[in-house]
Amino acid sequence: MIALKIGGSSLKNLDSLDQVVRLIQEPAEGKKIVILSALSGVTDHLLKSVAQALQTDRRINGLLDYLQTLHREWIVQAIDSLPIRSKVLDETDYLLSRLEKLLYGIAYTGECTRRTRDLVVSMGERLAAHLLAACLTDRGTPAVGLEADKIGMIATGDFGNGNADLRQTEKKLPQTVVPLVEQGILPVITGFFGATPDNHTITFGRGGTDYSAAVVAAALNCRELQIWKDVDGFLTADPVIVPNAQPLYYLSYDEAAELSYFGAKILHPRTVEPLAWRNIPALIKNTYRPDAPGTRIGVEKRPHDGIIKSVTFNPRIGSLRLEGASIGQQVGFLHRVVSVLSDRDINIISVITSQTAVNLLLEKNDIVTSKAYIEAKQIPYIDNIEPVTDVALVGVVGEGLATTPGLAARVFSAVAESGTNVEMIVSGASQVAQYFIIKEADVVRTIQAIHREFFPVHEPGNGGVES
Ligand code: ASP
Ligand code: MG
Repeated sequence: MIALKIGGSSLKNLDSLDQVVRLIQEPAEGKKIVILSALSGVTDHLLKSVAQALQTDRRINGLLDYLQTLHREWIVQAIDSLPIRSKVLDETDYLLSRLEKLLYGIAYTGECTRRTRDLVVSMGERLAAHLLAACLTDRGTPAVGLEADKIGMIATGDFGNGNADLRQTEKKLPQTVVPLVEQGILPVITGFFGATPDNHTITFGRGGTDYSAAVVAAALNCRELQIWKDVDGFLTADPVIVPNAQPLYYLSYDEAAELSYFGAKILHPRTVEPLAWRNIPALIKNTYRPDAPGTRIGVEKRPHDGIIKSVTFNPRIGSLRLEGASIGQQVGFLHRVVSVLSDRDINIISVITSQTAVNLLLEKNDIVTSKAYIEAKQIPYIDNIEPVTDVALVGVVGEGLATTPGLAARVFSAVAESGTNVEMIVSGASQVAQYFIIKEADVVRTIQAIHREFFPVHEPGNGGVES
């Protein structure tokens, strides 16, 4: 089997729907399974609906009308067969009536838990999966829309940021999906969410369909996962900053994971985990340029001559500096700090320590509240707590980076020559990535300088990095 992830950016209008149907129908070795996002813009619309319902019930009708019109229009225009059309219109109405009840519930109670919000936003994928399945059936490929939380996609963790339980999912999902495939029916599975063990819908965070698709591909032991987006795949840098950034044709799991986790907004950060777990190769492709080679991701490590494959940055990471003359000497100091934050569900991205300061790398959104929690605990030996938010994390990624002499020197001299001061270095935890902190204002010239150092000769549109 081959799993195909279709993103919302590949479902922008009826033309793109036609394109998606064509690429699903393309003959291939092996049977296909589709994992699908909501139509473009729908998840944002659902989140907005929750926010508005919290204020008043008066806008709910309008919000629902928008979704009904959008899906109806697509259905009516894309599907010829009247029975297929009327069946999917019924499914659509049913989902929208559930959504209506939820939104009125939110409006009347004036509250929305994370759990309820997850259920609301899951509606976009449900609507889309039934729509695409009907469309495929209408065009000669019998298909069925499957809602992931009803077919054994099991997940735990926080609502809004769940994690698939890979072992449970691997037990359950094949029982529903494989028999369909054997009957020649193409499953179109909703991305973005699963069910908790006590059967509540839980989402995987924004962009979570990439992750869902990887979980499905692993649980069904697929030959390959194809991820269809509106970009060609990973590049040597963000093309907004580096116009002559080159496509990357191959990344190891570790390279792809580091890039997704810290910077490049190509894949959901946890997509690689299920793939690596069952050794499933992935291929990122552009729906609108299917002939472009895309980026392959796999188990093999293939260092590239220049070692560095991509330079990336994350402007959402800052630090909280805990200062104290003797904190490096205090047994259990880090433990106390970490438990204050973990009790509040705040994720510490990294820790950089010295004898007189501990720097916690955090999401910028978490910095002010983290400071307040730590102050409230009155942990001894801290003289001062300094929030640092005018910074960004820059990373260079490539297999072989940690073991190649002189590489860090090359990176940092390029940075220095661009006039940028390196504030902190996150040292050697990863074999394939080197991270450091600079002022946010220096990001553009720093990225450009590193890219010039490692990819000096390319012209726009030329080349690409083979391995
Ligand atoms: N529809 C969800 C979102 O927009 C999930 C996804 O697209 O992957 O975040
Ligand atoms: Mg989306």
